[in-house]
Amino acid sequence: MDPGTAILAHEPLIRLGGFALMFLAVAGWELAAPRRAPRLPRARRWAANLGLVALNTLLLRLLLPLAAAGVAALAAGRGWGVLHLVELPTWVAVLVAVVALDFVVWLQHVMVHAVPALWRLHRVHHADLDYDVTTGTRFHPLEIGLSMLVKLAAILVIGPPVLAVVVFEALLNLAAMFNHGNIQLPGRLDRLLRWVIVTPDMHRVHHSVEPDEMNSNFGFNLPWWDRLFGTYRAQLRAGHAAMVIGLPDLRDPRQVQRLGGMLALPWRGGAPGSALTKGVRRRTGPAPDARRPAETAAGKEGSDQGL
Ligand SMILES: [Zn+2]
Ligand SMILES: [Zn+2]
Repeated sequence: MDPGTAILAHEPLIRLGGFALMFLAVAGWELAAPRRAPRLPRARRWAANLGLVALNTLLLRLLLPLAAAGVAALAAGRGWGVLHLVELPTWVAVLVAVVALDFVVWLQHVMVHAVPALWRLHRVHHADLDYDVTTGTRFHPLEIGLSMLVKLAAILVIGPPVLAVVVFEALLNLAAMFNHGNIQLPGRLDRLLRWVIVTPDMHRVHHSVEPDEMNSNFGFNLPWWDRLFGTYRAQLRAGHAAMVIGLPDLRDPRQVQRLGGMLALPWRGGAPGSALTKGVRRRTGPAPDARRPAETAAGKEGSDQGL
């Protein structure tokens, strides 16, 4: 059995094992030293968020059983994609492919904020009223399907080694659970890690109700794209303890914290427009940064306003 086939054969087990270990690690950390006091009881929220993960996993396996690694193996066999046109050492091809796939995911995240119809789907991720390890896995099934189709198209264009796709998907899964953690890293470690991976304090900014904060820090894995394209924001104006999580117009737990409500959310709430234009309008308005200086609770929370 060649390495690609071996990886493919064990991929579901590798994925499930990694998911379970990371979930337990972050959930344990959240229980021992939570960053913020949870707003809602955990049991009901977790049942809904994890119910959505189970539903998404089932649907993906049923509807797109080949999945990303399978399509990468198909592309490799046929010589499809840019990376199959050039001779590269395997480790270089893996590295290039992982970075390129991460950029595609970042770009897709910006697009789901920018396009009104896609923002309707992505609101499910943002509507969680608390922020913890389960938030990182909470996406509407239609957004999960769309993400998979975008990823498959990217794989056909990039032509990554099968190993790169397995590594990328595992990294993205693990990173999403880590950076949605209701946890805090020591200030210096957070500042250092932010150069190589999105930290919990960095991504939590993206879950603020404030439009300009919500439209920053789009990265799920590598933090470079936000710094490169000017969407990086080091900290929240209100600080991590006092910030409000979620969406300003969706605050009813019966709508946003129950499985049925979450599935119906894209069709609720009139015409929500796009998150990005709200952010732009807000930014060109009465200068929120000046109105509420970046004072807030920064020092005592060990944050890094200087970045
Ligand atoms: Zn988002
Ligand atoms: Zn998020």
